[in-house]
Order: sequence, then structure tokens, then C-alpha cells
Amino acid sequence: MRVETITVGPFQENTFLLVCTGARECVLIDPGDEADRLLRAVRRSGATLRAIWVTHAHADHVGGIAGVKREMDVPVYAHPDGRPLYDAAAEQGRAFGIEVEQPPPPDVEIREGDRLRVGTHDFHVIETPGHAPGHVVIHGHGMAFVGDCLFAGSIGRTDLPLGNGVELARSLERISALGDATAVYPGHGPVTTVGREKVSNPFLNGTARIVGGG
Ligand SMILES: [Zn+2]
Ligand SMILES: [Zn+2]
Repeated sequence: MRVETITVGPFQENTFLLVCTGARECVLIDPGDEADRLLRAVRRSGATLRAIWVTHAHADHVGGIAGVKREMDVPVYAHPDGRPLYDAAAEQGRAFGIEVEQPPPPDVEIREGDRLRVGTHDFHVIETPGHAPGHVVIHGHGMAFVGDCLFAGSIGRTDLPLGNGVELARSLERISALGDATAVYPGHGPVTTVGREKVSNPFLNGTARIVGGG
């Protein structure tokens, strides 16, 4: 299993390419922008792209889907609660002053406990709303792709439309419960671990309180 981070677009969003090197299959998590770069990374990997997995449907996380699917038409896996955001991706982009191509609708609904597979590797879905409705964490093999729930030293905003601070607090508890050694791959910024954030992140070590939304 290999993970490549491709940071794209004006919001410097992290798109992750997960490659099962044994089976030569790969998936993209949150293709946010710059589809051409993402497609180049897929081709360079030598693996066949099987799916697109979406942590949440903010425009900076789904803006590359249309361009990827034009070249490699793989199914998009997304939580149904995110549909109002997903279906308004281009509108969201306009609100943030960025140009976003509206992605075609998701193909497969994912929910709590669902198993996602790339090659011979299984991951599973944890529902983590709060930053956005239908937000999920994709967890497996000691890795958690946490979208915009948790960042190195910070947490996701809850003041955006449909954000909810109470829900985010609960979601962060679930991420904490994955264990200190879990590698955390956030939607923005550097990779970290659950253990490091429990010690140094003010929102996880009790020095700051989550406000906003809800
Ligand atoms: Zn977001
Ligand atoms: Zn984001």
C-alpha cells in the first residue's frame, strides 16, 4: 500500500492517491482540482484507477471529479447526506470565488461501517459530520483520511453553511478513539498522528472549545 499526496487548487487541498502495489489498483480520495495533475499521478503509478472516494462535498474536495471522470470513468463513492452540497459544488465555488466544474452525480452511497476496497486492502467508513453534512473518515491499515475534521494543530470550521459544532466534537472523539498510532491524513496541511494531536492540538487536549454552527 502506497499513499501519494497531491496538493491542488487555490485552497491547497490534499488529494490522496492510494495504490495497492500488489494488485496494481488505485483510488483517488477527494480529487479537489487540477484533474490533469491527478491523472498524471495515476498514470505514473502504473496502477488502474478503480474509484473516487469523497470525504465530504465541499467544492475544494470535489472540483477535480469531472475532469478525472472524463478520462477515467470510475464510480464516485459519497455519503448521501452530502448531496445538497455535492449538487451545488459549482455554486459553492462561485461563493468562494473559485471556478469549479460541477461533478456528475455520485454513483455509490456510503454509510457508517461500509467497507471500501482497493486491490487487496480494506478500509471502512466512519460517519463524522460537523464540518459538513455527510462527512466521513476513511479508516484502515493504521491510516485515517479525515477530510476537514482534523488538521495538524487545528480542526475544521463549523461556521460554514450546514456546519455543526456539537456534531464535530462527537466526530473528533471518534477519531481520537482510533488510537494514538493512527496516521492522520487531513484535507489540508501536513500528515500527523492521533497521538500527536491529542497532546498538542488545543481542540483535542482540552485547552480550546469548539464553537460555531449547530
Ligand atoms: Zn471542507
Ligand atoms: Zn477543504
